[in-house]
Amino acid sequence: MDLDKILEAVAEFVEPHRGKGKVADYIPALASVDPNKFGMAVATRDGTCHKIGDADECFSIQSISKVFTFSLALQKVGDTLWERVGREPSGSAFNSIVQLEHERGIPRNPLINAGAIVVTDHLIDNGDADATTEMLLGVLRDHAEDESIAIDMEVARSESETGARNRSLAHFMASFGNLDNDVETILSAYFRHCALALSCSQLARAALFLAFDGKDPVTRERIVTPQRCRRINAVMMTCGHYDNSGDFAFRIGLPGKSGVGGGVLVIAPGEGAIAVWSPGLNEAGTSTVGALALEALVEQTGWSVFG
Ligand code: GLN
Repeated sequence: MDLDKILEAVAEFVEPHRGKGKVADYIPALASVDPNKFGMAVATRDGTCHKIGDADECFSIQSISKVFTFSLALQKVGDTLWERVGREPSGSAFNSIVQLEHERGIPRNPLINAGAIVVTDHLIDNGDADATTEMLLGVLRDHAEDESIAIDMEVARSESETGARNRSLAHFMASFGNLDNDVETILSAYFRHCALALSCSQLARAALFLAFDGKDPVTRERIVTPQRCRRINAVMMTCGHYDNSGDFAFRIGLPGKSGVGGGVLVIAPGEGAIAVWSPGLNEAGTSTVGALALEALVEQTGWSVFG
């Protein structure tokens, strides 16, 4: 299969749609991103990264970071994670608070904001949010084999300044006894995780282990067990795009995770990891052009978990 040719065809297909969707505007650093940006990268078994467009430009990965913190928490605490977070699609917005009261402070899944805040809480030892953030950064650099990966501290500061909703979610969960660490400590890590800046190439490479049963196919390092890898992919498939997850599964048929920076990470089990970036979002907060590009890619490659 000639992935470079396929990516060229995908880029041609999305060209008339470039700039569609609404760029996130809750913080200046996201609002000022050029809506016409488009990049896509596919990392394959041997670590080769096929790419097109702005695939080497770093963008704010936002909620895509939740996939990595979720994997790390599963490694750290195992199945006890499920005592404090569910694994059902929410059918609600990423920052919704309504379900939390009904469900007594237990968020629906690890890929919505409330769930990721609980996941982050699990990753903090001795109240040291800096150590957790350094650990995550180190893990991403290792997985992507790229020491240059960094956090955009301007984005992190803005996340905190505009973080009233996330603070509300966290305090609400704390009131049900579902957080161990202090709310501000947890959020200082959470906001920095949202502010990680990666390119499509770095992101696809960093997530490659999820396409190969939890083992990096290049370095042969086992990162998560095969069973956990399948489960992470299952949660991405059912919950990776908030109240847009069903539509995404229908259209793309692969596990994925979107972020409000306009990035989408998608896993094609046994084939590779795909990252796409285009800043304009649909109403649920998934990249409009990114989803179109993924649809075109899976049509051309035939990749699907549904056979
Ligand atoms: N920083 C955003 C938030 O916490 C991330 C949301 C997202 O990417 N969907 O609200």
